[in-house]
Amino acid sequence: MIADNLKKVQDRIHALDKNHQVTLIAVSKTKPISDLQQAIDVGQQHFGENYLQEALEKIEALKGQNLIWHFIGPVQSNKTTKIAENFDWVHSVDRLKVARRLNDQRPKSLENLNVLLQINIDNELTKSGILVDEIDEIIPFFENLQNIVLRGFMCIPKLDNTERSFQKMAKIIKKYPKLDTLSMGMSNSLELAIGNGATFVRIGADIFGKRVD
Ligand SMILES: *Cc1c(COP(=O)(O)O)cnc(C)c1O
Repeated sequence: MIADNLKKVQDRIHALDKNHQVTLIAVSKTKPISDLQQAIDVGQQHFGENYLQEALEKIEALKGQNLIWHFIGPVQSNKTTKIAENFDWVHSVDRLKVARRLNDQRPKSLENLNVLLQINIDNELTKSGILVDEIDEIIPFFENLQNIVLRGFMCIPKLDNTERSFQKMAKIIKKYPKLDTLSMGMSNSLELAIGNGATFVRIGADIFGKRVD
C-alpha cells in the first residue's frame, strides 16, 4: 500500500520534473515506525517530521539506514538543542533567535545544519514565518553563523491562494542567487509547486494515508 502510494507520487513528480531538481520528502508525522520502514524498504531516504519527541524516537529506531531527516514543524526555542543534534535540515526557521540557537548548538562533529527560512507568504496573522518585507533584513545575519547554512525558503500558503503564493515564492528566490532550495508543495499542491520551481516537496497523506489531525 505505502509502496504503491509512493510509486504514484514519484510518477507525478517525474512527469513534471524535467530538470531533475525535485527531492521528495515523505512527511511521516503521527505515523508508526513500521510505515516509515515500508517506505525505506522501497528506497525512500528523506523524511519530514513536525513533532520533536515523536521524531527523536523514529530517528533512534531507524538509525543506520542512511536516512535524511527534515524538521518541518514550528520550532520552540527551548527545543533547539535536540533539533540541532539530530536533524539534517530545518525548514521552519522563523526568527533569528532560533537560527542563533541552532548554530550554537550544532555539534562540531556533524556537518553544517541546512536551514530554510519559513516565509509567511500570505501575511497570515495565525501563521508563523517571516514576512516578505523582512527577508532582506534577516539574511545578512546568517553570514556570521558558521555551523548552519541558509539554503533557501519554505512556505505553507493559504489553501485558496496556493498558485499565486507559489508564483510569488518563485520570484522572491530569484533575487538571492546563493540560495538553491525552495520547499513547497504538499499532497494537494504538488503539481503547482513543481511548476513554480520547488526543489523539495513535502508529501504526507498521499503516501501514508489521511491523518486525523
Ligand atoms: C503535514 C505537513 C505536510 C504534508 O501535508 P500532506 O497534506 O499530508 O501532504 C507538509 N508540510 C508541512 C509543514 C506539514 O506540517
